[in-house]
Amino acid sequence: MNFSKIIGQGHAVAALQSALSHRRLSGAYLFAGPAGVGKRATAAALFCAVNCESGGCDHCEICTRVSSGQHPDLIVIEPDGRFIKIDQVRALAENAAFPPHEARARIIVIDGAETLNLSAANALLKSVEEPRADTHFVLCTSAMHRVILTLRSRCQLLRFRPLSDQETATVVSAQLAAAGRPELTQQTKANALRLAEGSPGRALELLNGDFLAEALTLAEQLWQMLITPSASATFSFSEPLGRERPRVAETLKLLRLWLRDVMLQREMGGDRTATVEALRGVEALSNTKLRATLWELQQAQTALDANVNPRLVVENFVFASTSV
Ligand SMILES: [Zn+2]
Repeated sequence: MNFSKIIGQGHAVAALQSALSHRRLSGAYLFAGPAGVGKRATAAALFCAVNCESGGCDHCEICTRVSSGQHPDLIVIEPDGRFIKIDQVRALAENAAFPPHEARARIIVIDGAETLNLSAANALLKSVEEPRADTHFVLCTSAMHRVILTLRSRCQLLRFRPLSDQETATVVSAQLAAAGRPELTQQTKANALRLAEGSPGRALELLNGDFLAEALTLAEQLWQMLITPSASATFSFSEPLGRERPRVAETLKLLRLWLRDVMLQREMGGDRTATVEALRGVEALSNTKLRATLWELQQAQTALDANVNPRLVVENFVFASTSV
């Protein structure tokens, strides 16, 4: 791993490279930004930059072990369940007091720093405040405001941003190729990119398993309910969705993105064929009706976020949209 492989995070990478060249690497960083945009990969690239003789060559013993997640001095701590527990932190703090096993410098990544509660954060504080010269902490978070303030204020903040669709596509294609998987169809790729909103990690998650395919089918079915309203069809569609909050969330989001595409195409032109194909019959819909449906979709998403039963959300959405 090396910095040239980090796509779309030029600002964070430049800050780290500059610190390295001035030998002023901070004892603790906070990498803040959406999930799946390269925070951990950047920490790994930093480790290779410090420890590999060529600054990250990809084939020496150090780089190979980093790629396979096996280097004992690149330590990653993640939540055990919903939280990073105080025992995990205590073990880590004990470890961090000793020199690295074999590397020039050790990097301790704490992924999900927002899940450290007050006592766990306090247990970590001293290590982060006065780390050994050969130990650097990298706290990663997708919810910076939830990281305990005393801890946050001890770290140098580097922001990570969502990637552009083009950048996301580049990372996703490279990862799929590395895993020996075939290139995706245009439509699958377009939908995965839309739902991922600039997070290659999220896009890859969607492409693994059936999640995306299911969300696509559900969104198309939901669309059919709007085009050919039928109360009984709506009930049998929504019935199994009572416990499927994430799936319903993705389905609503997909439908909203599709409809927004149709609006954009009508107003500004451009080719959004993939979207229009999924929405059979959309041509017959007036702009007013489209806007009303988009508004109802937004209401449905708000209700879902507010913990309303997903089944009810779907039913209310269909009935409200077909009665407008
Ligand atoms: Zn190397």
